[in-house]
Amino acid sequence: MSKVYFIKSKNHSTDELIADRLKALIKEKDLFNFIEEKDMVAVKTHFGESNKSGYPRPVILKRVGELIKAKKAFPFMTETSTLYKGNRSNAIIHIEHAHKQGFGYEHTGMPIIMSDGLYGGDEIEVAIEGKLYKSVKLASLIVKSQSFVCVSHFTGHLAAGFGAAIKNMGMGCASRRGKMVQHSTAKPKISAKLCTKCKQCLVWCPEEAISMGEDSAIIDGDKCIGCGECLAVCRFDAVNYNWGATYEELQKKIVEHAFGVYNATKNKGIYINILTRISKDCDCMAGYENICKDIGILVSTDPVAVDSASLDLVEETSGKALSKLAYDIPYKFQIDYAEELGFGSSKYELIE
Ligand code: SF4
Ligand code: SF4
Repeated sequence: MSKVYFIKSKNHSTDELIADRLKALIKEKDLFNFIEEKDMVAVKTHFGESNKSGYPRPVILKRVGELIKAKKAFPFMTETSTLYKGNRSNAIIHIEHAHKQGFGYEHTGMPIIMSDGLYGGDEIEVAIEGKLYKSVKLASLIVKSQSFVCVSHFTGHLAAGFGAAIKNMGMGCASRRGKMVQHSTAKPKISAKLCTKCKQCLVWCPEEAISMGEDSAIIDGDKCIGCGECLAVCRFDAVNYNWGATYEELQKKIVEHAFGVYNATKNKGIYINILTRISKDCDCMAGYENICKDIGILVSTDPVAVDSASLDLVEETSGKALSKLAYDIPYKFQIDYAEELGFGSSKYELIE
C-alpha cells in the first residue's frame, strides 16, 4: 500500500500558507530524497489557459523549486505544446503566456524550458509493456532529466473523467505525435436537430474543422483533433461524442503514455496533486465552474495512489460521485487500468 500525504485546506488558507505547509511537509519527511546533487529536475506543471481557471499557483512552484535547490540540484518548470492552436501551441507563445500567468523567474525562482522543443516535435521513444503499445513518444526533456516532480491540478475532464497526475503525465508529457496518437479516435458529431447555427463552435474550433452546412454546423473528421472545445462551447447540447466507443480507448492511451513517463523516471519521481479551485473542466478549457470546496494538497511517490486518494477525497467532500459533479462518463477506468499495468496502486494509506 502506498503512502499519500495530505495537507488539508483550512478555512481562509491562502495560497502562500498552503505552499509553506507543503514545503514543511516535504522537508520533514525528506520526500525529495531521490534528488541528487546536480540532477536536472523537470518540474512538470500546467500554466492554465486564463487567469480565471484553477491552475497550480506560482507560489507552490516557488516552494518546490526552493526544496530542489536545497538539494543542490537544478530545477526547471516544464510543459509541452498543445495540439490545438491558441496561446500554448508552441514554445515561445507558451512561455510568454506562462509569464503573463505569473510564472516568471521573479515569482518562481525557476526558468521555464519546454520539454518538447519549439514546436512540440522533440521526442524520445520509451519502451513499455502496454497492451496497446510497446513504446510511446514522450517529450525529450522529461526523459533526459534525472528527476521528475509532477505538480498537477485536480479537475473534471470531459473525456478522461478527471485529470490529475496520470493525465498530466500521459497527455501532458507526450510529444505532439504522442498526443495525436491519443486523440485520434475521439471525434465529435453535431446533431442537425439541435444545432441552432449559432456558429460558436466555428469560432472556438482550433483547427478550423467546422463549417456551416445548410441545416447545421458540420465537422470535417480529417481536420478534427478531438480536443472537445466544440462540445464545451455549444450551449444547445448539439455536439456529442460517442463516449462508449472512445472514453475507454482514450483513457487507455493516456495511461499507457503515463506508464512511459513512469518508466523513464522510475524511482526518481514524485507527484503533487492540488485540490483547490476544483473545476468541472480541465485547465485547458476557457471558463471555470467550481464543483467542490477546497480540499488541500496530496503528495506521493505513487501516481496511481495520489490520483485514487484525490478522487476519493473529492467525492467524500462533495458527497457526490464525480459523474454527478462533472461529466457522466466512467471515470475510474484510468486508475484501474494503471493498476492493471502495474505502475502504482489504487490502495493507499492517507497520512494527514
Ligand atoms: S455551437 Fe452548437 S448550436 Fe452553435 S453552431 Fe455549433 S453545434 Fe450548432
Ligand atoms: S473536437 Fe471540435 S473543436 Fe476540437 S478540433 Fe474537433 S471539431 Fe474542432
